[in-house]
Amino acid sequence: MRRPLVVANWKMHKTVREALTYAEAFLPRAREIEGVDLALAPPFTALEPLSRALLGSPVAWAAQNVHAEPAGAFTGEVSAPMLAELGCAFAIVGHSERRRLFGESSGFVARKVAALVAAGIRPILCVGEQLEEREAGRAREVVERQLEESLPELPSGREDGLVVAYEPVWAIGTGRTATPALAAEAHGWVRAALRSRYGGAADRIRIQYGGSVKPENASALLAEPEIDGALVGGASLDPESFAAIAAAAVPQAASAGGRRPPPAGGASGQGRNQP
Ligand code: PEP
Repeated sequence: MRRPLVVANWKMHKTVREALTYAEAFLPRAREIEGVDLALAPPFTALEPLSRALLGSPVAWAAQNVHAEPAGAFTGEVSAPMLAELGCAFAIVGHSERRRLFGESSGFVARKVAALVAAGIRPILCVGEQLEEREAGRAREVVERQLEESLPELPSGREDGLVVAYEPVWAIGTGRTATPALAAEAHGWVRAALRSRYGGAADRIRIQYGGSVKPENASALLAEPEIDGALVGGASLDPESFAAIAAAAVPQAASAGGRRPPPAGGASGQGRNQP
């Protein structure tokens, strides 16, 4: 049983003041949501103040990027040990915007994943096909290749902490969402690729869907058993809208009064930024 993970990717939005105002509005809503792991991924400037505001709350925080090296002459970059020192729970890597706008290759992404795992931070590895690739019938091949090339060899037992976000590029920021059936099919491809690499451990890896998730479509997407949460861009900028998406991820048993057990191997991000 995988505990859903819903992450807000704010991208290059929100000053420190705006981030703190958001936390004030979001935290009371987050405290009502049971059985779901939640994280906010603000821009780097807001990481430290936001991490303080989230201390002791059920909401973790994530970085939107990281460099592969622990330290060095890499102007403008931030390393995994630097993030770990602040209590970072997750970091997004391989986002299509980084691949497309900043020329990041899957090989570089694999080095970032390795650096994060070494620092005790859970990578959220994004994969997904472009529209032309889907229309050419190549979506599965593209996703499998990205997984193959973006995942490094991991020390045995560390696979559980991985998160994969399936984000069809044609659905990101476009308002065009994959249907639940289409998303579930692609999640099946990701799960199969993870199983052939990690065996039974793959069943503990969470696979999020990302691409124009909104309060209106979240329930249908998150009802698919293979969709273990959401990576949310635009609709996460408003605390009410993000809270509504997070509430849609509450497992049936929890909404009926029961609770899901925490994941095996401590795969949840909760507590990483707690006192
Ligand atoms: C994203 O950037 O990861 C994303 C899914 O964005 P949006 O929700 O705006 O499509």
